[in-house]
Amino acid sequence: MASRFKAGARLQFTQQVNGKTVTRTGEVWSDGPVVSSLWVLPDGDRRNPVPVKLPTARQEDAGQLPEAFVHNSPAQQELLAARCSNVSRRGQVYAVLDADLLGNTLSYHADPGCPLAAGKEPARQHGRPLTVSAHRVIDLLSGKGGVGLNLCRRCVWLDMEVTR
Ligand SMILES: [Zn+2]
Repeated sequence: MASRFKAGARLQFTQQVNGKTVTRTGEVWSDGPVVSSLWVLPDGDRRNPVPVKLPTARQEDAGQLPEAFVHNSPAQQELLAARCSNVSRRGQVYAVLDADLLGNTLSYHADPGCPLAAGKEPARQHGRPLTVSAHRVIDLLSGKGGVGLNLCRRCVWLDMEVTR
């Protein structure tokens, strides 16, 4: 690993945030989780190390910065796969009117029998039930960005500890 990528070195990198490319700076922490990658402690957010992929020499000559990528442990990947297949099996999620303390006015559910949606009024748009395609929800679940939806912890995130 080149000395400029040693621990403590300053680094500029790009990251996809909600579908936009932003440039961030940070400090090299250690070798990253895959070949030619590093863990970087972003300025102002050092508690959340970001894995970045280093550009090849040719890409670097062309001015390309290291790029942050999403790295999941095998257990996280398994959970993500379970969430995505659950949503894709349903084909879509549906919204119900559901005010909460965080200022959300809707919640989105995959399971037609979800107890967290039971008894709540279905949200409508243009006179039809408000739904969101599985495709868009899967993008959100896998961190590819898009507008955030208040997805049900129980029947979309599959957080089994949530019972109410
Ligand atoms: Zn639900």
